[in-house]
Amino acid sequence: MTDAARRDFRCRCCGACCRIKDGIVRVSDGEIARIAAFLGLDEAEFIARETDLSPDRQGLVLKSRPDGACAYLTPDNRCAINPVKPDKCRTFPFEWTNPDSHTICPALNF
Ligand code: SF4
Ligand code: SF4
Repeated sequence: MTDAARRDFRCRCCGACCRIKDGIVRVSDGEIARIAAFLGLDEAEFIARETDLSPDRQGLVLKSRPDGACAYLTPDNRCAINPVKPDKCRTFPFEWTNPDSHTICPALNF
């Protein structure tokens, strides 16, 4: 992505990037600590209640709803943990992106 495209990017708050089919949001130890603190949970409680083992069993991911949406996506397509959301979420579709990003994010197709 060029600097100009990045500068002109306007998120449409559609929530599509939080509803990617079979998408996962891995969380590092540091992310776990900051999200748990934001939610007022201790880390063990957060891990038990709010995360699942990743499909490759190499780490933890945020829980998803039965329809695949992230558990923190609000009905109005906001992130309930926005101030402390994982880096993957914070940097999409810039530093973190993938070959399908243009099919996911309508704001990339301007
Ligand atoms: S943590 Fe927030 S930004 Fe990340 S997928 Fe969930 S709802 Fe979306
Ligand atoms: S898919 Fe793109 S436009 Fe929609 S919420 Fe995510 S970043 Fe914003």
